[in-house]
Amino acid sequence: VLQLVNVRKSFGDELVLRDVSLTVPEHSVTVLIGASGSGKSTLLRCVNQLERVDDGLVLFDGEDICDPRVDHDDVRTRIGIVFQAFNLFPHMTVLDNITLALRKVHGVARDEAEQQARDLLDRFSLGDKASQYPDRLSGGQQQRVAIVRALAVKPRLMLFDEVTSALDPVLVNEVLSVVRDLRAEGMTMVIATHEMGFATQVADEVCFLRGGEILERGTPDQVIHAPQEPDTQEFLRRVH
Ligand code: ATP
Ligand code: MG
Repeated sequence: VLQLVNVRKSFGDELVLRDVSLTVPEHSVTVLIGASGSGKSTLLRCVNQLERVDDGLVLFDGEDICDPRVDHDDVRTRIGIVFQAFNLFPHMTVLDNITLALRKVHGVARDEAEQQARDLLDRFSLGDKASQYPDRLSGGQQQRVAIVRALAVKPRLMLFDEVTSALDPVLVNEVLSVVRDLRAEGMTMVIATHEMGFATQVADEVCFLRGGEILERGTPDQVIHAPQEPDTQEFLRRVH
């Protein structure tokens, strides 16, 4: 579904991604790990065109989505992203948060958009929260609403950037279990996380980033449990 070829990105004179190449097959889960500042968020942001790449290709279904002629709204419909901070609109109810893009970007009628949203909320055990405002929900519930909002437009690929790092430990699992459910349904995903146990459970491929390049990649058994590179070993010692 997704292919990055020699992607390079700088901020000023800092090279943040250096020749990153990555293939994410349909229905697979790729997990990005690495120290703070290694480029995980930048990589995800380049995939859904929140950042422009300086060089290289980002192919989605074979189409180069860095091409300026490509419609960015359309790309963001096909590629959903959920961030560490939930980014819900505070002045809108849960239902309005979820239906906004469906109605405004996709022209879906209000009744139909709300029905779709309620179905999704039910599926993620949030059915009773539709008319609440975000500040009345727990962090875990807000993050699940943010995931439902991203799913509402039926993306083919989901990107998750540290979606549990702003949560109390007791709430982490309810969010991770949503991601596990999506995996079971065959959703293609790229996930940046510091949760190595979770990475081991969901990843088909783990990529360890260091200084903007993928230093080591492989199955969780290879990269997390038997890393070859000294820097990967050192990183894993520090996070465990
Ligand atoms: P973390 O684990 O802390 O989230 P990360 O792996 O996601 O880290 P990035 O956020 O991708 O790392 O940042 C990689 C580098 O790019 C950092 O050195 C950061 O300071 C720099 N950077 C990121 N965004 C910008 C920006 N908009 N302008 C300038 N520099 C940036
Ligand atoms: Mg980050």
